[in-house]
Amino acid sequence: MLRAGCSMAVEGCSIGDWDGRWGHVQKFLERTGPFTHPDFEPSEESLQFLLETCKILVIGAGGLGCELLKNLALSGFRHIHVVDMDIIDVSNLNRQFLFRSKDVGRPKADVAAEFINQRVPGCNVVPHFKKIQDFDASFYRQFHIIVCGLDSIIARRWINGMLLSLLSYEDGVLDPSSIIPLIDGGTEGFKGNARVILPGMTACIDCTLELYPPQITFPMCTIASMPRLPEHCIEYVRVLQWPKDKPFGDAVGLDGDNPEHVQWVFQESLKRAAEFNITGVTYRLTQGVVKRIIPAVASTNAVIAAACATEVFKIATSAYIPLNNYLVFNDVDGLYTYTFEAERKDNCTACSQVPQKLQFPPSAKLQEVLEYLTENAALQMKSPAISTTLEGKNKTLYLQSIASIEERTRPNLCKTLKELGLADGQELAVADVTTPQTVLFKLNFTSETCSIKQVQN
Ligand SMILES: [Zn+2]
Repeated sequence: MLRAGCSMAVEGCSIGDWDGRWGHVQKFLERTGPFTHPDFEPSEESLQFLLETCKILVIGAGGLGCELLKNLALSGFRHIHVVDMDIIDVSNLNRQFLFRSKDVGRPKADVAAEFINQRVPGCNVVPHFKKIQDFDASFYRQFHIIVCGLDSIIARRWINGMLLSLLSYEDGVLDPSSIIPLIDGGTEGFKGNARVILPGMTACIDCTLELYPPQITFPMCTIASMPRLPEHCIEYVRVLQWPKDKPFGDAVGLDGDNPEHVQWVFQESLKRAAEFNITGVTYRLTQGVVKRIIPAVASTNAVIAAACATEVFKIATSAYIPLNNYLVFNDVDGLYTYTFEAERKDNCTACSQVPQKLQFPPSAKLQEVLEYLTENAALQMKSPAISTTLEGKNKTLYLQSIASIEERTRPNLCKTLKELGLADGQELAVADVTTPQTVLFKLNFTSETCSIKQVQN
């Protein structure tokens, strides 16, 4: 597969190139300078590597993805794959500049690849209209560098976990050839960040999970029966009341861009809030909760994608020292950038290889363990499935994602760890959408008075 791709590129290269085409890139790669990497030797081989061999995966073909594809293609990268599971919406067109009105409804990955391939001769972008979870290790292993322009923390954590799972160790020493660098960009309105992750060597996504605010999700029982926050009231109307009342007719789904819809949700949320003596429901908050979207600013995407593509170029060519390792960008008020070195966390659930400890008294209920896994800022799991080995048999203690198993295992949530037959030192295997691999936890029984906390290793 890889070989076929290469020979195609050589053909493309002979077809698509003209005199001086890569002059702007050659200036960086074929001469030395005060800012080059100390070990850098100028040569023509770096450019050849970019054009013919280097294989990049771009995850996301949205605001950041369009910019990234354009930047990489114009920097000389020709073997690019792009994965995106979304289709083009009319609201994307103001910034996702590879798409036109006629493309609305088509997969972003397909249209983005077509555009770049047509516009940049010799460039071969291969689209995948899929979820990242649809691919296995053998797919990801073929790339030299992976760059992410995602708006989902779950997806970031998943790809982070995937790249960590590709690492190989010999006698406890990391084999550097198994490392696939991950460049991650993120934006939110006027703020953004770009970071370089060398899996197994530098801070990974999960090492710095506390930097990301937990995504807002509310337990259904809270929404349905004991709301405490204005958001709970809005969620109630959005999730439960809208499908029941069908205020705009049978087949009309709630559209966050329709002011009449938002207005209806707002008014109903006010009523529910009044019922429970909750204040703070506003039209603006209603819109925020209903749309669940992060506002996108084209120029922020451009800045962050430029930073990410530059890092891809630096790592691919070794001509310059890469970002170490986290860049913050903020132009909400003035213009501010800052770079710091995010540090690895000794007991990171994703990259530390240290067994995670869970401290609970034997009288704690499984529900408490579940809540801990989802609410702890360092874990932030979404729908953890907990299993263990009891008397030599694998036993699922709780699994949410399959209705029949959820129903069967639900009674376990109210049982104590002791009633479930779990012992001190018991290993619990936890699977979750945030990671492709199972996370192992070791249960540490505490005395009854001890508060619930995770042991810091
Ligand atoms: Zn980590």
